[in-house]
Amino acid sequence: MTYDPGNIFAKILRGELPAYRVYENDRVVAFLDIMPRAPGHTLVIPKAPARNLLDVEADDLAAVATGAQHIARAQMNVFAADGITVTQHNEKAGGQEVFHLHVHVLPRHTGVELKP
Ligand code: 5GP
Repeated sequence: MTYDPGNIFAKILRGELPAYRVYENDRVVAFLDIMPRAPGHTLVIPKAPARNLLDVEADDLAAVATGAQHIARAQMNVFAADGITVTQHNEKAGGQEVFHLHVHVLPRHTGVELKP
């Protein structure tokens, strides 16, 4: 499987499409999901062109994991969350819809289900 630089998240990285960015460093960007499954639903992506977990370089994967941890800790405070759900999809059969590696980070509250 190859990386398609025309994917939506690549366009967000290049500034060709808008996104509400909540965090950025030299390796990753985090922005709000356009169809949030919970308030604060955030996506963390590498700046490097990685299709998914099967494709990413180790340094970029580590940066994404650290970025997700940073977002999760912030969500616990900002949303007074009771917990955090982290999900990640690979290839169409794995539920992936946008083919640039991304990790979903979702604040959770006791007794509140995620939107479908
Ligand atoms: P996947 O199923 O690939 O893991 O999830 C892709 C996610 O990207 C979905 O949650 C979807 O709502 C989100 N998404 C799709 N297009 C856009 C967009 O243009 N902007 C933002 N911020 N999120 C998007």
